Amino acid sequence: MKFLVDTHSHIYYDKYKDDLSKVINDAEDSEIKRIICVGTDIETSYRSIEIASQYKNVFCTVGCHPHDASKMEDGYLNEIAEMCKHDKVVAIGETGLDYFYNHSSKSTQKKIFIDQIELSKELKLPIVIHNRESDKDLLEILNRYKPKGVIHCFSGNLKMAQEVTKLGLLISFTGIITFKNFNHKDVIKEINLNNIMLETDSPYLSPIPFRGKRNEPKNVKIIAEKIAEIKDLPIQEIINQTTKNAFKLFHRLR
Ligand SMILES: [Zn+2]
Repeated sequence: MKFLVDTHSHIYYDKYKDDLSKVINDAEDSEIKRIICVGTDIETSYRSIEIASQYKNVFCTVGCHPHDASKMEDGYLNEIAEMCKHDKVVAIGETGLDYFYNHSSKSTQKKIFIDQIELSKELKLPIVIHNRESDKDLLEILNRYKPKGVIHCFSGNLKMAQEVTKLGLLISFTGIITFKNFNHKDVIKEINLNNIMLETDSPYLSPIPFRGKRNEPKNVKIIAEKIAEIKDLPIQEIINQTTKNAFKLFHRLR
């Protein structure tokens, strides 16, 4: 496959309200032919579906982020399940655990995460997982429930990467891998390319040389170049395999 997929972006933010079409066109001109817009609560999940409905290259996910776990009301899971009927929804999430910010209590985060894992298994959709400072509980849940999916914005060490890929999960990398202080190059070197995907996490985490600016899906190419450099492989091989991985995991992508 000769194009790239930005497997994780949040292009519903106000930062894109004046030029979203241009952002999507610029991505297409840079060989990024699929963009996955990731919902983080009920409202942004609906907005992600709306954007995906408007642009043929944009697909989306629906779910609840750990930050918003305590906002979820009874019936939220049914609402997510309903949204999954839309044919451009390719996954559930992002969900997971975040013990760095702890915007919601640990027990609420775990409950909401497990709810969505169970739904993902029932609906046979992959799940997009966020993990920050919560390796131990995350691994315990992943071992117990064995969902299919991806640990997005992977920034753990090699041992963590090996643990999650052993469970059949993929890991995806953002602009963080271009930062000077990125110290887990060994993860990229050692983990098989079959387990790796690319993402921008736009509007966050712009890669060097755009650090600090609004990120855009077109920058996913910079992540591919960095992985090619670290793995010492041709860029085309990185593009081809990571795109294949995305189409395999997100089986509703087309
Ligand atoms: Zn995200």
